[in-house]
Amino acid sequence: MKIYEKAPAKINLMLDVLRKREDGFHEVEMVMTMVDLADRLEMEELPRDTIIISSQAGYIPLDEKNLAFQAAKLIKERYDVRKGVYIHLDKHIPVAAGLAGGSSDAAAALRGLNRLWQLNIPQEELLKLGAELGSDVPFCVTGGTAIARGRGEQLEQIINPPQCWVILAKPPINVSTADVYGNFKVDRINKHPSLANMVQAIEQQSFADICTHLGNVLEDVTLPMHPEVLQLKEAMIRLGADGVLMSGSGPTVFGLVSKESKVARIYNGLRGFCKEVYAVRMLT
Ligand code: ATP
Repeated sequence: MKIYEKAPAKINLMLDVLRKREDGFHEVEMVMTMVDLADRLEMEELPRDTIIISSQAGYIPLDEKNLAFQAAKLIKERYDVRKGVYIHLDKHIPVAAGLAGGSSDAAAALRGLNRLWQLNIPQEELLKLGAELGSDVPFCVTGGTAIARGRGEQLEQIINPPQCWVILAKPPINVSTADVYGNFKVDRINKHPSLANMVQAIEQQSFADICTHLGNVLEDVTLPMHPEVLQLKEAMIRLGADGVLMSGSGPTVFGLVSKESKVARIYNGLRGFCKEVYAVRMLT
């Protein structure tokens, strides 16, 4: 039997860091949602007790370092599954881009293996397993739109924002999430975005207010380190995006656009100097 799971990319509509915790993680407040740019996982049971990962993307690890591998290993250990699995990752989400591609693959593997091996693991438990794999994995297990607190694993589901276009552009640089948090100093942030304002904008389904309240404190670290990210933001605004923000720790920048008639112009304008550009819909 073969099963398939979609692993969509996430964007942060708002990301604030409150403080550094004693355990080394940062206490965050985020609003996350998903966009229709997704990896696709194909999972097939193997007679041998082994985990095999393959992918057409040449630039991700296919061994224990792969988050889908780690998800399969964790589920096998916890539920004493003595069967093997072959997982093919059809990658479309850019890697190390601030779009949680690896986390979403891990979440899709958890959901998929729960089905493939008929384990009936309740959602609550899948979320806990996800948190062991990474801070963004629990959100990727549930999807939708959520407020995330703690190190990102404490979730409160909210309604989806109104439908719109999302233009994503990734400059050709790699940004390590660990480096960005390592260089982050809470006392150097002059403006924290407001969680309350963003949540209210979403609840009122006000696209204009969502654009106004977009905010990500990690821009204060990534933008000075990588001027090309700021240039992309400026280009998106110039080309007519309604709201523009860096996602996660970057370097991907996203622009929200309500009018379909503007999408081609922004997309083509960005393609002029950035190779990786995607025009997708918000997943609502
Ligand atoms: P986040 O927004 O959660 O920080 P990201 O989008 O910045 O994530 P990922 O694409 O998840 O970053 O990749 C981060 C690192 O994880 C990469 O360096 C990659 O080698 C490794 N990795 C492990 N498993 C995967 C996977 N299934 N897909 C992509 N990268 C993976």
